[in-house]
Amino acid sequence: MVEILKDRKKQVFQKGAEKEDRSFVCEKPSLAGSVSQRACVFCGSRVVLYPIADALHLVHGPVGCAAYTWDIRGSLSSGPELHRLSFSTDLREEEVIYGGEKKLYAALTELIKAYTPKAAFVYATCIIGLIGDDVQAVCKKVEGEQGIPVIPVHSEGFRGTKKDGYKAACEALFRLVVEGGGQPGLPLSINILGDFNLAGETWLIKEYYRQMGIQVVSCITGDGRVDEIRQSSRAGLNVVQCSGSMTQLAKMMEESYGIPFKRVSYFGIEDTAEALYSVARHFNDPKVMRKTEELVRTEVQRIYPEVQRFRKVLEGKRAAIYVGGSFKAFSLVKALRHLGIGTAIVGSQTGNPEDYEYLKEICDEGTIIVDDTNPLELSRFMMEQEVDLLIGGVKERPIAYKMGVAFCDHNHERKTALAGFEGMLNFCREVYSSLMSPVWQFSPARQKRASLRKVEDDRHERDQRVVLS
Ligand code: SF4
Repeated sequence: MVEILKDRKKQVFQKGAEKEDRSFVCEKPSLAGSVSQRACVFCGSRVVLYPIADALHLVHGPVGCAAYTWDIRGSLSSGPELHRLSFSTDLREEEVIYGGEKKLYAALTELIKAYTPKAAFVYATCIIGLIGDDVQAVCKKVEGEQGIPVIPVHSEGFRGTKKDGYKAACEALFRLVVEGGGQPGLPLSINILGDFNLAGETWLIKEYYRQMGIQVVSCITGDGRVDEIRQSSRAGLNVVQCSGSMTQLAKMMEESYGIPFKRVSYFGIEDTAEALYSVARHFNDPKVMRKTEELVRTEVQRIYPEVQRFRKVLEGKRAAIYVGGSFKAFSLVKALRHLGIGTAIVGSQTGNPEDYEYLKEICDEGTIIVDDTNPLELSRFMMEQEVDLLIGGVKERPIAYKMGVAFCDHNHERKTALAGFEGMLNFCREVYSSLMSPVWQFSPARQKRASLRKVEDDRHERDQRVVLS
């Protein structure tokens, strides 16, 4: 295996090459100097809250933090698009010395007047944690004056990992949930948690539930609305995708309102079907179950022959997966199998010990499993494992392109829905078009690898000849 920094060795595991029970380390701050692919606490909270389209999102800090996360997700909205504007208090040297509370107060007051949002989220960045602005007090004051929820998000970048940002976002969301608490429950109803409607996935999933006869009370946070989130405690079940970001909120709602939750994934054929069936089983309603079976049958019959056509061409290719949450990684390993593509490397930014145990179970021998990787490691693993395809997000894309490896964006920036049954077909098309693109033959990195391989093969052939003579 490639050279790995000493303090990262326990975050990498190769199935079959090591003892299955050796401890695997994860959920820890990134190692200084390893240039993690993982984002900061602030970014974690921003990606979760960002899709709430009728809220004001104000980043309290230097303008760079806001620029870094501006329009960070595709997150489509069927109505208002206030979320797509990025506001910052743009702190300068003077405020860093004398405090930025006045500037925060002025910015909030001006923005609420100009945009009349339903709520405002105020994100604390690193510098706010250092200078000690009382963000909570300013938010409380403005809330009293303006009559809308003004919610501080405690997301100072240095406070931990991206996962702590998810936690800060869940705490902020819970304030809205509590505001609407105490209303009567709704029969056969759910909240969709952890889908962010990057390319219209929330709409696809909502449509499945509509066909099953299930009411969706709120989507947290894809195509999200403040008033819907306020109603969310009326639902009978929380269905949590991207478990890394939203399980915390589901647990809080279970504790306070007795709403149970299920962790699901809508990526790939089996996982989408299982997500819908598990919701149907939960409500134990024969009519819902019948409609679910009909829906799954029709959809699988529709897409399966198409998937098989792609498989004929793609069988035998090798892929690397590096994504934010491990649930997505599980689904991708399974979805690639439908295409006959093996997973040579798989990793996530926020997986927990149980997630990695499950990955060990479902992956083939020789697969490298990695937590919180960095570009150097990832590219070396890719070279060593001779992968043809990388599935990742915006930060992994340049790694693939520089190496002359096909790429599929399964994260923030994608423009094609990859969830649900339709999403599986779109996924096949994306993987196919990237892998089969003629452009890779012109990649200098790939040409170099091919000529090195040729030298190796020639040497091997020469050695064989010597042995035979
Ligand atoms: S919050 Fe801190 S770590 Fe995050 S972008 Fe801003 S300065 Fe960087």
